[in-house]
Amino acid sequence: MLTTGPRGTKDILPDTSGFWQYVEKKAREVCNLFGYREIRTPIFEHTELFLRGIGETTDIVEKEMYTFSDRGGRSITLRPENTAAVVRAFLEHKLYADTPPAKLFYIGPMFRYDRPQAGRYRQFHQFGIEAIGAKGPAIDAEIIILATQFLRSLGLNELVLQLNSVGCPECRPKYRSVLQEFLRDKLSNLCKDCQSRFDRNPMRILDCKQAECTSLTQGAPQMVDCLCDECNQHFTQLKTLLTAGNIEFKLNPRLVRGLDYYTKTAFEIQYAPLGSQSAVCGGGRYDGLIAECGGQPTPGIGFAIGMERVLLALEKQNLLPDVMNQYDVFVIPLGEKAQAAAFKVLCDLRKSGYIADMDFMDRSLKAQMKLANKFSAQYAVIIGDDEVATNSAVLKNMQTGEQQQINFDELLKKLDTEVNG
Ligand code: ATP
Ligand code: MG
Repeated sequence: MLTTGPRGTKDILPDTSGFWQYVEKKAREVCNLFGYREIRTPIFEHTELFLRGIGETTDIVEKEMYTFSDRGGRSITLRPENTAAVVRAFLEHKLYADTPPAKLFYIGPMFRYDRPQAGRYRQFHQFGIEAIGAKGPAIDAEIIILATQFLRSLGLNELVLQLNSVGCPECRPKYRSVLQEFLRDKLSNLCKDCQSRFDRNPMRILDCKQAECTSLTQGAPQMVDCLCDECNQHFTQLKTLLTAGNIEFKLNPRLVRGLDYYTKTAFEIQYAPLGSQSAVCGGGRYDGLIAECGGQPTPGIGFAIGMERVLLALEKQNLLPDVMNQYDVFVIPLGEKAQAAAFKVLCDLRKSGYIADMDFMDRSLKAQMKLANKFSAQYAVIIGDDEVATNSAVLKNMQTGEQQQINFDELLKKLDTEVNG
């Protein structure tokens, strides 16, 4: 117990944290290019926010939330996703008063009581963006292109963008009843979950992963055939813009959400080499969400990318960069008297911006040289009792093996010309 973390959680160890920093840096860079600015909201929120903002008939709310009472008796939930929290912050801090659209991004941990397996954890991380305030299809295209550009900047190319429109409160009711008519005589053969979805959220039956449900819904009527004029136009324009942006897409009528506040565009980006958990990005428009959370009706759209899945994909494709720390200098004192002098040299080196280190384990000279090699140090500065007496050190180039005796006062200047030319 004490030496094992909770099921579904992972430690990011020093060996891999450099990969995370690399991917996070790419995310920040692409957001900067597209004019999205970072927002950091709390890890926990009032449970009510997620009940409203995600929807009581969703898997997340029904089965996956980490909910508890705090010591003041409030119901608190660890965020299972971040759109609702960003919308809450948007309203609380009146971000709508700034020039719209608000273009926001976040990177951070999310919590879901999922069944742990490769690419699926109970604490996982998402990089997501939200664009709040713009209703036209250009912003839909922009965020899809942002997601694609981010993934491609990491070297991931075998991306499949799946696209659908889920309509709006205008056209969806008609589609729902057409779909219910189609499903009515198949109802008893659907899985239990889908039977309960039939009245509450029938569109969700289309994305059920159970084999019998998938086969029974073959040939079901499609939302895209029932769109109202406005939704149809939005969808057509989006497809034109994506084509203009050189983004290929595959229409997927099973990509649904089915809650009233999800509207129009729904999309997912798959990275097939990942196998069963191949969805790296999910997103869509939520024109009804801001009003649902108590604001003025305001359109919005966003996506979330699963960072663990991105890292798994990079590992699989051998695309992880070399992030091994490379030391500039390793300082090696020989004997008691040299300790203090070496320590001072180490402090001076670091103050001057060199990546420098020394041994803290009383290792032998041989072991210290080995350590310098392990850290790929470019130089070793060796200080023995003789050198202390003459205020000097031996500067050794670890690549060429070349050594020279040098005065402490000259050391930094010498290194500077050696390293920077
Ligand atoms: P799924 O159907 O696989 O459960 P989802 O619809 O719950 O996916 P979203 O809520 O759209 O997923 O989340 C966006 C992205 O976050 C997913 O595409 C995935 O990359 C990642 N993700 C979601 N849940 C997990 C999890 N439990 N562990 C790791 N990554 C996750
Ligand atoms: Mg899920």
